[in-house]
Amino acid sequence: MNTESDATFRHRDHDHSACVSEALEDADRYCAQRGLRLTRIRRRVLEIIWQGHEPVKAYDILDQLNQSGRRSAPPTVYRALDFLLEAGLVHRIDSLNAFVGCPLAPGEHSAQLLVCSGCETVAEIDDPAIRGILDQIGARHGFAVEPQTVEIKGLCERCRGDS
Ligand SMILES: [Zn+2]
Ligand SMILES: [Zn+2]
Ligand SMILES: [Zn+2]
Repeated sequence: MNTESDATFRHRDHDHSACVSEALEDADRYCAQRGLRLTRIRRRVLEIIWQGHEPVKAYDILDQLNQSGRRSAPPTVYRALDFLLEAGLVHRIDSLNAFVGCPLAPGEHSAQLLVCSGCETVAEIDDPAIRGILDQIGARHGFAVEPQTVEIKGLCERCRGDS
């Protein structure tokens, strides 16, 4: 798990290959422990999503899969995405209809995704204060809040500095 800073906006100039190998190793370990099958196609889709910290759309994933020879049909990609979502290895950004790799521990969890409208970089946090307030608000309305992904739009430090 990565705990080096809170607002972990990671731009293109960091050693991203380390992020990718860590994410794939975590996924291998998690799936092996749970008896989940991280098939070649699922692992490849995860790798494509992890090409950066920006969300990737399903049809871009399909495009990239098909560049490597064998043609995959859209349902194959959607099934792989469903598996990765359910395993908590990726998150879906509903507003962009795109997917981003999860840098936190796999499995079902609450997360807040800070989505930069400038560079589209996504930073994932899991702030207990936000979870707490959602639970409180839910309780006030007799509503049991489930673990979920909350999207928070804004501008990262770098994008605020640029313009
Ligand atoms: Zn990275
Ligand atoms: Zn996550
Ligand atoms: Zn930005």
